[in-house]
Formats: sequence, C-alpha cells, structure tokens
Amino acid sequence: MTTKDTKGKVIERQPMPEQDPEVRRRNFKEVPLGYTVELAQKEASRCRQCKKPSCVEGCPVNVDIPGFIALLKEGDFSGAIQNLWSKNALPAVCGRVCPQEMQCEGNCILGKKGEPVAIGNLERFCADYERANGTGELPPKAAPTGKKVAVVGSGPSGLTVAKDLITKGHEVTVFEAFHKPGGVLVYGIPEFRLPKDIVAEEVNFIQRLGVEFKVDSVVGRTVSVDELLENGFDAVYIGVGAGLPRFMGLPGENLIGILSANEYLTRANLMKAYKFPDYDTPMPKGKNVIVLGAGNVAMDAARTAMRMGADRVRIVYRRSREEMPARNAEIHHATEEGIEFELLTNPVRYIGDDKGRLVAVECLRMELGEPDESGRRRPIPIEQSEFTIECDLCVVAVGSGANPLLTKSTEDIRLNKRGNIEADPETGKTSKKGVWAGGDIVTGQATVILAMGAGRKAADSIHKYLTWGW
Ligand SMILES: Cc1cc2nc3c(=O)[nH]c(=O)nc-3n(C[C@H](O)[C@H](O)[C@H](O)COP(=O)(O)OP(=O)(O)OC[C@H]3O[C@@H](n4cnc5c(N)ncnc54)[C@H](O)[C@@H]3O)c2cc1C
Ligand code: SF4
Repeated sequence: MTTKDTKGKVIERQPMPEQDPEVRRRNFKEVPLGYTVELAQKEASRCRQCKKPSCVEGCPVNVDIPGFIALLKEGDFSGAIQNLWSKNALPAVCGRVCPQEMQCEGNCILGKKGEPVAIGNLERFCADYERANGTGELPPKAAPTGKKVAVVGSGPSGLTVAKDLITKGHEVTVFEAFHKPGGVLVYGIPEFRLPKDIVAEEVNFIQRLGVEFKVDSVVGRTVSVDELLENGFDAVYIGVGAGLPRFMGLPGENLIGILSANEYLTRANLMKAYKFPDYDTPMPKGKNVIVLGAGNVAMDAARTAMRMGADRVRIVYRRSREEMPARNAEIHHATEEGIEFELLTNPVRYIGDDKGRLVAVECLRMELGEPDESGRRRPIPIEQSEFTIECDLCVVAVGSGANPLLTKSTEDIRLNKRGNIEADPETGKTSKKGVWAGGDIVTGQATVILAMGAGRKAADSIHKYLTWGW
C-alpha cells in the first residue's frame, strides 16, 4: 500500500530490516535491526500531521505522535526524544514490544486505505538514536518536596511511577524482589526481542534522575507495606505484576519435562542459560518441544526453545489463528523461524515413560462455537478425536496469576476474587490509605503500555495526595 509525502511523491511503509530467519532461529541476537536515519525520515514523511490525530487516542499514555514524528522528520532527534520522554518513560521498550496494531497504528488514518505509519519503529529509532548519539541530557526536575514514596516492583508500571514522581520533586525508592530491576522486561521477554542492555539503559536513566533501587528486597517478607508507611514513606505504590504461573491441572502434570513458561523464560533470560557455556544455569533442552498457549509468552517460549537447539517446536492452541492473542509481529516471526502451529487442539493428559519422563501429550481436536464472554468464539471438543503428540519438553504458557505474598501480609487491602488488588481505574487508589496499585497486579496479565498508563495515573494521584492530602 502507498501514500504520498508533502511533495506529492508516493512512498510505501518502510519495512524494518531484520536478521535472516534461517540464521536468527539459532541465535539470541535481536531480530529487527532498526531503521537507519534515512529510512526513519522517509517513514516519518508519510505522516499526514492530522489536526485531530486518531493515533494519539489509541495510545494508553497519549504520546504526542505527530509531534515527535515532525521533529524526527526535521532531523531534530533530541527534540523528538524529549517529546517522547514527556509522556513515556520507556520509549525504547515500547517501540519494540507494544501491540501497535491494536493501539496507535491500529488507529492511524492511513490504515483505513493502506498501511499505517510505522509509529512503533519510529519510536524505537528515536530512543536508539539518543542512546547512540545523544548528550544524555536529563529532563528538568521540580524542586525537592521533602516527601518520600516507596514503589514496590520495578516492572514498567513501577518504573513509570518512579520516573514521574522523581521529576515532580519527591524522593523515590524502588523495592525489587529480584537482583535486577525491570520486571518482565528482564526476566520474561527474551533478548532477541528486547535486548537486556536496552532495559538496563532505561533503568539507568531513571536512576540518574535520582531514584534509589533496593534489589533483593521482597516486600511482604523483608519488610511489610505497613512498615514502609510507619518508617517514613508518605505513600506506597504496589506494582508487583502477575508472575504466579498457572497450570491446566491435567493428569500427569508432575512428569519430568513439564514446566511453566515463567520458569523456562526466567532461566533463559534472567539466569542467562542462553549464554551457555559462560553461564552454567540448568535448563531443560528439549529436542521435540510443545508449548501450550498462543499469547506473547507462548511465542517467546517457543522461539527460545528453537534457539536452545530443539529440532521441532509446536504451539498447541485450542482456538484458531484469528483468536491468537500474541502480537502479529511475534506470530509472523515465529512462523518464519519454523515454529509449527497445532491449532484447534486441546491437551487432555500428559503421557510418561517408566522413568517418569514426559514422552507425549494426548490432545483433542476442537471446533469453534458461539463467542464467549471474552468475545472470542468458544472452542468445543470434537468427540472421539483423541490423538497424541510426541514430545520431550512441554512449556505451559496459559497465563499467570497474582502472587499472594505481598497481599497476604497487607491487611485492609481489598482484593477481587482472583486475588488481584482492587484499585480505582482513574487514580490507582486502593482501599488502604496511602497505598496505590497498578499494572498486572490489578488487571491480571496485560501489556507493558497498560501497566505504564496505570502507573502514570497513579503518579498523578499520589502527587495530588502529597500536595493536598487523601
Ligand atoms: C514472556 C512475556 C512476554 C510478554 N510480551 C509482551 C509484549 O510483547 N508486549 C506487551 O505489551 N506485553 C508483554 N507482556 C506483558 C507485560 O510484560 C506485562 O503486562 C507488564 O510487564 C506488567 O508490568 P508490571 O509493572 O505490572 O509488572 P511486572 O513487569 O511483572 O513487574 C513486577 C515486578 O515486581 C517484582 N515483585 C513481585 N513481588 C514483589 C515483592 N513482594 N516485593 C518486591 N518486588 C516484587 C517482580 O520481581 C517484578 O520485577 C509479556 C509478558 C511476559 C511474561
Ligand atoms: S493518525 Fe497516522 S497520519 Fe495521522 S498523525 Fe497519527 S500517525 Fe500521522
């Protein structure tokens, strides 16, 4: 599809240069290589600079999309990144992992007749250009207020709250259970999609603004939320995510060779199993792997398994391709890398050998019925359609829930029936005075940008509280 630039010249959406699928399926280097200056400016020139930009409405943190694109087109790269930072603490991350097709790009006017402006690729370009060539200049900060805020969890929502409140002049300390800040960005999303030095740079930027990070600090164990409030913090933000793995409860689930995507990806990413032999992290290396589920987590697990040396990797999903919740780009990349899809297929039991090792999964074929409460067509089992898929490793990626460690130790914080914290969607306020919450611990597993959007609203509300009271 084509569009015209301001001089009437027809230009197409600029494709992102990528590593060749045959090569990349066996390495952990980033798949998309990034736009050059020339490609970025050419793509930027496709933007029509709409007076009422529908793309901005599609962005949960309301990035001034035409504004940063105009600056980029003019060659003011530093202006473009300052513009992005004013709304988004993590542009290098969002440019890489946001589901743009459902947000900004899904709303871009050019998408009605052709291909939308590649907003995500342009955002990524600005952040990468700044990292490589920028002055490292920090955005301005308000004068110190003397107020102290504790942020629990250093995922995208906690990082957003920390960045927003430090720039408003408050003192901010982030408590993180793991030894590295970043949340899912470091322990979940693999290197080939989001290089860890980029996350480290984004965290470093927030650190340079003055935020203190206390790693290896499990709130609810080493210190409680009440103790934080009693010991000098004026407000607490809870952004602990939804990292408790879910299993399907199928017969045979204890066999050797079955593990959660959370454990599999944490071993690969945070514990650096992919850097063998430099890191000696134990990691099950299946040759014939199946992954249950079809979200981003499932795609990441499948593509990691391929890179860890599997001969064959299959995604098993009970609905059809249209209902797959993963980003389009991940499904496309997985397919290119040789991941196979067993669609309309539901596992019913695991089969082991006499040593207790997984050797196969028994499945049923499904067909789609009427839409269910999620709006997707309900999968219905086809009777007597049982068949088995041989495998030596099964990674379960069917969702995750709220970890009860912090919430159990925090009295008077209201939870919903799934164990997620109840928080006002506009302010992030919880039922407990002085405590806010947002991100996956409130919504269940969602997206990076929604977690950041919740962090932004909560930071505004905390700032009002610290200035005028509850
Ligand atoms: C493998 C994978 C791939 C994904 N891919 C995408 C994608 O492509 N695009 C997208 O938009 N979204 C994706 N997501 C979802 C997205 O990453 C999450 O929605 C987002 O990270 C939620 O942010 P958060 O800040 O709420 O929590 P998290 O990122 O989960 O961070 C929570 C942090 O809190 C810490 N913590 C937990 N308990 C405690 C405690 N008691 N004390 C101190 N610290 C604690 C955790 O260690 C963690 O660091 C993916 C998720 C996974 C798992
Ligand atoms: S809707 Fe598309 S064309 Fe219009 S301002 Fe946004 S990115 Fe540019």
